[in-house]
Amino acid sequence: MRLAKVLGTIGRVCITAGALILLFVGYQLWGTGLREAQAQDKLESEFEERLRSWKVRSPVLKLNAALSELPRWTATGGETWPVAGTVNCRESLDDAQAAFEAAERGELSVGFTEIYSQTASDPTGAPPGGHVISVFGQYAPADAGREAWDAGLREAAADQVFGLIERFAPGFRDTVLARPLQGPADLERGDPNLVGGDVGGGSYALDQTIFRPLPALVPYATPIRGLWLGSSSAFPGGAVHGVPGWAPASYALAARRLGR
Ligand SMILES: Cc1cc2nc3c(=O)[nH]c(=O)nc-3n(C[C@H](O)[C@H](O)[C@H](O)COP(=O)(O)OP(=O)(O)OC[C@H]3O[C@@H](n4cnc5c(N)ncnc54)[C@H](O)[C@@H]3O)c2cc1C
Repeated sequence: MRLAKVLGTIGRVCITAGALILLFVGYQLWGTGLREAQAQDKLESEFEERLRSWKVRSPVLKLNAALSELPRWTATGGETWPVAGTVNCRESLDDAQAAFEAAERGELSVGFTEIYSQTASDPTGAPPGGHVISVFGQYAPADAGREAWDAGLREAAADQVFGLIERFAPGFRDTVLARPLQGPADLERGDPNLVGGDVGGGSYALDQTIFRPLPALVPYATPIRGLWLGSSSAFPGGAVHGVPGWAPASYALAARRLGR
């Protein structure tokens, strides 16, 4: 009789403890879900706010040209071989700085060009004897829209680019057969990823470089579960190293392994 009573008591204690544990686990799951939902909501509002204030501004232009021959550089005794690498043309650093400041005032001011020639290494991409070069130039007025470019800015910019190259490779202008130029607005039209023509996916002001796109332990997470942000707009930013693609992809794979 006494044994039955003890067993009954143990049973009741076990059932009560089991119920309590169940309640506790249920509460934890509910609480965790709530916290996650709150975190998700917080991320949503932070994310929206950050995207609204994201700074994109580009003073960059791009020029492609077809040439009858490659530029002959004074610095190398009129040789064409330097274009097989990358050639930078600019006057002094002060001049480059002045060009930047002029562009900040809204003026077109090309003070720096970076020149590549694909056909210097592989001539098969051009008609026999011909060449192409592409030029990355700075600085264009960042806020000029397509209308301004259509109204003559493109031609003026191409003239400035060629004027700069001509100083280092006399006779260059006479070799130009065609010269399509893209300003920031044209770059955006050609690739919707280049918002504002910004080749880096957004300004590299300190706050947007460290916290890219926003201050978070995992900066690639978005308010939509399972959707991750890659691209040059994500940490550590643009250029051709691939990290802002690799890192969110790694997080996405890890999250999938964890069933999240
Ligand atoms: C003229 C120029 C010169 C540069 N020079 C240098 C340099 O010298 N050194 C350097 O390190 N970096 C340079 N960069 C920057 C570098 O190219 C970028 O930072 C880098 O390519 C960004 O990679 P991304 O994957 O974020 O975007 P992207 O390379 O722009 O790739 C985005 C892709 O998404 C596609 N896309 C966009 N929207 C959609 C859509 N809705 N649907 C489907 N597809 C879409 C686009 O067509 C594109 O293929 C330069 C960029 C430009 C434009």
